[in-house]
Amino acid sequence: MLQLIQFILAILFAAFIAYAAFRARSLSRSGAWGALLVGTVIFGLGGWRWAVLLLAFFISSSALTRTAAKRKAALNEKFDKGGQRDLGQVLANGGIASIFAGLNFIFPHVTWTWLAFAASLAAVNADTWATELGVLNPSMPRLITSGKPVERGTSGGISVYGTLAALGGAALIAALAGLVSPFGSFWLVTGVAILGGLLGSLFDSLLGATIQAIYHCPHCDKETEKHPLHTCGTPTVQVRGWKWLNNDLVNLGCALVGALIGFVL
Ligand SMILES: [Zn+2]
Repeated sequence: MLQLIQFILAILFAAFIAYAAFRARSLSRSGAWGALLVGTVIFGLGGWRWAVLLLAFFISSSALTRTAAKRKAALNEKFDKGGQRDLGQVLANGGIASIFAGLNFIFPHVTWTWLAFAASLAAVNADTWATELGVLNPSMPRLITSGKPVERGTSGGISVYGTLAALGGAALIAALAGLVSPFGSFWLVTGVAILGGLLGSLFDSLLGATIQAIYHCPHCDKETEKHPLHTCGTPTVQVRGWKWLNNDLVNLGCALVGALIGFVL
């Protein structure tokens, strides 16, 4: 009975958040349905501790993306609609975390579900923070594989600011995970989640530099992950990587590596 009430409250709460984010243009229509699903699973099957982490990821990453979108608008990239997450992005970021919230419901007395959940969210948060704040780095980023300087925003490029941002993003989720941990041990939980978060976002950059599908926009003469259309509306042409390995799958891989680190440790 208590679980049924928790589940109903979870649906209402997730619907409220998804609707608010849709109205604030942080989520597209499909993204809002995705958030309702992910939120219901995590709040309903996990509970309030799990909800705290999901909200910290969702609020901090949406806020950063919105600020970045405004900055881009100021730089006169006026066609960039920027920052609305769709269903694919929501599932790529929250899908793995939802699975571990579900596993927690089936295995309520184990610690690995919480560690994997926290590390997975730490990874996607680290990646989002690095993407949005890394562009502020004063010098050009360097490709993670070759160390060659590349243009800002290039997939697989890393920088000092980006790496510090990744650390901050992972640390926020990890510290909260330690604070509200269902079984205590603050330092263990925080340490594992930070490590999972950093390695997950590193994996993301590695894929971006090697096998992720990368496109070129002939109108802006820029490398991009966007396909079939660039943010300016021009069709993009593939220049490297595996065609099926899009940005959502790379983010999913980032979340999965984070979760695996949390699970194994
Ligand atoms: Zn373009």
